[in-house]
Amino acid sequence: MNFIDLRSDTVTRPSAGMREAMMRAEVGDDVFGEDPTAEKLQKRVAELFKKEAALFVPSGTMGNEICVKVHTQPGEEVIVEQDSHVIIYETGGPAFLSQVQLKPLAGNRGMFTAQQVKEAIRYDAYYMPRTSLICLENTHGRSAGAVLPIDEIRRVRELALAEHIPMHLDGARLWNASVASGIPVSEYAQCFDSLSVCFSKGLGAPVGSMIVGSRDFIERARKMRKIFGGGMRQIGILAAAALYALDHNVDRLSEDHKKAKHLAQRLSSLKKLGVDTSNVETNMVIMDIRKTGKTQDEVLGMLRGQGVLLTPEGRSSIRAVTHLDVSAEEVDKAANAFERLFG
Ligand SMILES: *Cc1c(COP(=O)(O)O)cnc(C)c1O
Repeated sequence: MNFIDLRSDTVTRPSAGMREAMMRAEVGDDVFGEDPTAEKLQKRVAELFKKEAALFVPSGTMGNEICVKVHTQPGEEVIVEQDSHVIIYETGGPAFLSQVQLKPLAGNRGMFTAQQVKEAIRYDAYYMPRTSLICLENTHGRSAGAVLPIDEIRRVRELALAEHIPMHLDGARLWNASVASGIPVSEYAQCFDSLSVCFSKGLGAPVGSMIVGSRDFIERARKMRKIFGGGMRQIGILAAAALYALDHNVDRLSEDHKKAKHLAQRLSSLKKLGVDTSNVETNMVIMDIRKTGKTQDEVLGMLRGQGVLLTPEGRSSIRAVTHLDVSAEEVDKAANAFERLFG
């Protein structure tokens, strides 16, 4: 069966044009700093974010984990949103790799307040951990791709600057946030000392993420990347895919957002599914399935039987993600399948 795959925007495959660009890429040994295409991508992304430097890394997880490592010392504490990727989906990386303790704060759709941060920062006592980093995630995956409000980010930033605590942004889907809000990525970047961004999500590249920050930070990140096993050789082939994605696949993210909104609107009329269309800001739709009287596995199995793939979300919801390999027509077909099953 030809499945309509709404599990994630990571399932996108490189297009013919992208493969062509990869094939033609000029390459060299990047561990020697000699890959011209990687250099070109790093320069371009640094300029785009108005930061001094950028570094290609194999995955978003490695990007986040390197940044946590560079910002912290063992035994220190990192403030994170409680439903963020860093704490849930990185297999305990901060504890394993950086020996830091995480201080999870409950956000509202992914965003905690400056007041919450103020209360969470440890005071200066020798028997307390030092608060050495604040992490945010934009868009926020567990909140159906919510866009974090820039005003609150700026309030947190102001406090962090006063307290001399650096900030890191997990911007795996920052381009979605930027396209949805109309706020340039560089404006978000101003509020952070380091960012990690992904090319392998909605941008459609097969592999690749990037860390952005000051020249000094990126130099230290480069060393950590090597320690973590992420120093790679002729990565121009991958950087070419990312460059192609920046040229062709950023503005079109608005189409994915439209498809998600449309899907949510159609599903919101089904009484057995709890879908809040006002929560759909980017490319994700979360459906509460409790009223179907079925388990997540049962619902996902029924949908699979209709040729539609989704993922579980939390304990009582399922999630659909729109992306460049699923057409508006297929989104309608998926909605039809939901109607057949739960109408
Ligand atoms: C996908 C993602 C990452 C990185 O994931 P990798 O699979 O390691 O590339 C990080 N943060 C968020 C919010 C993500 O969605």
